[in-house]
Order: sequence, then C-alpha cells, then structure tokens
Amino acid sequence: EDLSRRLSAGLRDVPDYPSPGVLFKDITPLLADPDLFAESVRALSAAHRPGGGAEVDLVAGVEARGFIFGAAVALSLGVGFVPVRKKGKLPHTTVSAEYTLEYGTAVIEVHEDAVRPGQRVLLLDDVLATGGTAEAAAGLLERVGAEVVSVSFLVELGFLDGRRRLAGREVNSLLKY
Ligand code: 5GP
Repeated sequence: EDLSRRLSAGLRDVPDYPSPGVLFKDITPLLADPDLFAESVRALSAAHRPGGGAEVDLVAGVEARGFIFGAAVALSLGVGFVPVRKKGKLPHTTVSAEYTLEYGTAVIEVHEDAVRPGQRVLLLDDVLATGGTAEAAAGLLERVGAEVVSVSFLVELGFLDGRRRLAGREVNSLLKY
C-alpha cells in the first residue's frame, strides 16, 4: 500500500554490486530523507510498543546497516541496543557463529554478557536476502540467553526465500520484493 510505495521510492537498485549479476538494494536515499527514515523507524517499532503484546527489552542489530535502524528503533522504544559484529571487532569475551555466504563463509560475534537470561530481543537488519546472516545472529543471541521475539527487516527479497532459514521464528518485513 502507501508505506510500501513510499519505502520503495527510497531505495535505489544498483546492478552488479557487490558482484556481477547481483541487483543491490541501496537504502541510502531512504536514510537521507528524514520523513521516510522516521516513518521506517516508526513502522519497525510499532508492534513492540508497550501494550502491543510483543514488547522487547533490547534491540539487536547486525553490522553495519542493522546498526542504523537498530539504534534508532531502540531509542524510539526506550530500550537498549546490542551490536552483532563481524569477527574481531568486539573488545570483550564473545561467542561467535560461522555461516555460509554465496562464496565462502563469514563469522559474526556478540558479547557473551550482552543479554541477561530470558531478555526479550528484537533482531533487526536492513535486508533479508538468503537468511544466513539473520539465522546466525538469532542463534547467537539465543546462545547468550535471549528470547528472540521477532527478526525484522526493512526489505525482504522474497525470491531468495530467506524465511526458510528462519523457520520457527517470527519474521517481519516492511517491504517485500
Ligand atoms: P543474507 O545473509 O540474508 O543473504 O544477506 C543479508 C545481509 O547482507 C544483510 O546484513 C544485508 O545488509 C546484506 N544484503 C544482502 N543483500 C542486500 C541488498 O540488496 N541490499 C542491502 N542494503 N543489503 C543487502
């Protein structure tokens, strides 16, 4: 509907990035538009406001674009933020997960004490593609004690079927392709 149309107007398709044949959804035009950025943050937060039944204690975001939306949503909900980072970036003791990319593997980490047992966490990233990143991040958060209430995205590339790798988890996106 209307939000989808406005959101999609804030995305730019970049062909052959980061590799030949990939059509990358660039979110920087949306970020540069203060009304659209604010509307995105409101929409990502809406289900998790007090009284909505899906309240959270923390928002977690995946480096790097998940930090942008994650921090904004955390502030808008009045809860803390947990960074999920690429290997070697977090200073204290971490737990890590390796996951498969199209070519090769990647490792993400979270601080072992980032979440207290049973804390309810909203996991955010900008784009759901194959789901490998979100699956690994949700698993890490659960290993350190989180209850992952929702894995939410600005954009879902439905044709890549990333939801399959998040089966059994609540998955939400503002805009589907
Ligand atoms: P996945 O692990 O689901 O295949 O890829 C998701 C990760 O790669 C996310 O962290 C996301 O930021 C990034 N990503 C993959 N494709 C795109 C894209 O087209 N646009 C943007 N902005 N990020 C993407």
